[in-house]
Amino acid sequence: MDQKTIDALRARPVETFSHLIDGKSVPASDGDTMDIRSPIDGQVLTQVARGTTADMEAAIAAARAAFEDRRWAGQPPAMRKKVLLKWAELIEANALELAVLGVRDNGTEIGMALKAEPGSAAGTIRYYAEALDKVYGEIAPTSEEVLGLIHREPVGVVGAIVPWNFPMMIGAWKLAPALATGNSVVLKPAETASLTLLRMAELAHEAGLPPGVLNVVTGEGAVVGETLGLSMDVDVLVFTGSGATGRRLLEYAARSNLKRVYLELGGKSPNIVFADAPNLAEAAKVAAGGMFRNAGQVCVAASRLLVEASIHDDFVAEVVKAAEAMQVGDPLRLDTQIGAVNSEVQLAQNLRFVETAQAEGGQVVTGGGRILEETGGWYMAPTVVTDVRPEASLAQQEVFGPVLGVTPFETEEEAVRLANATVYGLAGAAWTANLGRAHRMTRAVRAGVMHINTYGGSDGTVPLGGVGQSGNGVDKSLHAFDKYTDLKTAWIKL
Ligand code: ADP
Repeated sequence: MDQKTIDALRARPVETFSHLIDGKSVPASDGDTMDIRSPIDGQVLTQVARGTTADMEAAIAAARAAFEDRRWAGQPPAMRKKVLLKWAELIEANALELAVLGVRDNGTEIGMALKAEPGSAAGTIRYYAEALDKVYGEIAPTSEEVLGLIHREPVGVVGAIVPWNFPMMIGAWKLAPALATGNSVVLKPAETASLTLLRMAELAHEAGLPPGVLNVVTGEGAVVGETLGLSMDVDVLVFTGSGATGRRLLEYAARSNLKRVYLELGGKSPNIVFADAPNLAEAAKVAAGGMFRNAGQVCVAASRLLVEASIHDDFVAEVVKAAEAMQVGDPLRLDTQIGAVNSEVQLAQNLRFVETAQAEGGQVVTGGGRILEETGGWYMAPTVVTDVRPEASLAQQEVFGPVLGVTPFETEEEAVRLANATVYGLAGAAWTANLGRAHRMTRAVRAGVMHINTYGGSDGTVPLGGVGQSGNGVDKSLHAFDKYTDLKTAWIKL
């Protein structure tokens, strides 16, 4: 991968994208499209279909028909595996093209995008392809005159609604285990990050996935997302996005067929630094990286920095130094460490958070504003706010932007109390050389994932999911199969 190849790819015009329904590329039923603006320069990049209720209903009907005739679920596992492995191979073969297209659409820095998008998506698909014929049913420990079998069956039609920060990675977390277990899927990408998922779905068909098994409908959440949520023909909804939309999905389920709803919502993850951390310089760099990569648009972002009071000032100075050293700018340059904010709306929201934080007593010690306005793109300086009170908006609400709030603590008990003082429970970290304290923190902090002396960087072998208002159910690992399979008991009298 070199800058010249990336520059050549970015110069290519982007085709207009339609839905992918029943294996065919189809425009919206009323022909309507929506403009996609690139966060890099604010210019119109291309158009995608603005889906209608009828489009979504057609996609759901295609998925249902594909499931009912068992064109995919009925294939021998070895066949499904072969198709999925081929799909992963095609994604890898097109990785750079996919990554550049994705960056033009959503603004993530290319270094991160290459790893986290096609790289991770291919890895996830391969993981579930390889796993699908290694998960067995069970024989129950019954008395001798009966045989109790526990089968795992696909749930049927899965509706997947995904966000714009890492569309391919998060998309693959849902699609791969859902398809591996024989389900049909209707995927609804985010308005501002549809392009790579449409390409990825085309590649699935090239790999041999039968038509109708994976359908992609683009458009507005409030239109096509709602139709998917309210459908009587969707068995399970899987979602990553905001709490507000998560609540709506639960309502849709209650108002329709009680479909199961799995939510991966936001976080306000505490990164807790004790004075006895083994390497404070490293901790400061990771604190900045764990917050500011992808312009803070990461659900597990380390957005609350809790620092032991005795080292607070020195540590914050190191974090500020690390933040200021990060290169913000054109996400298609290989040396960029922080790309663009995804949309104008998101940028405005980030800036409002900074204003509120100041009004609530926070001190902006670096950043705080929009930068590189002359590019026409949406960029924000990495921002560190100190003196954030535990009840302040910045300590309680997810920004989903490059804004870090810092709060000091005196004791381990206080650190735990602060860490758990939000409605969220997605991720967290503790930095300490004390083994006992490390394990105590792992137990005490309410979160789906706790890091010790590091932040982020897990792989596909471990689950990711939240507790509290960060959601339910997990992506990644073999545990993700639970969302896409039903247990069925067979009770046989011998
Ligand atoms: P964000 O604030 O990060 O954009 P959202 O929850 O609004 O998070 O978006 C995540 C996904 O949810 C997107 O694909 C979006 O289109 C979809 N979405 C938004 N509103 C609705 C809705 N009312 N019903 C279903 N899906 C929706």
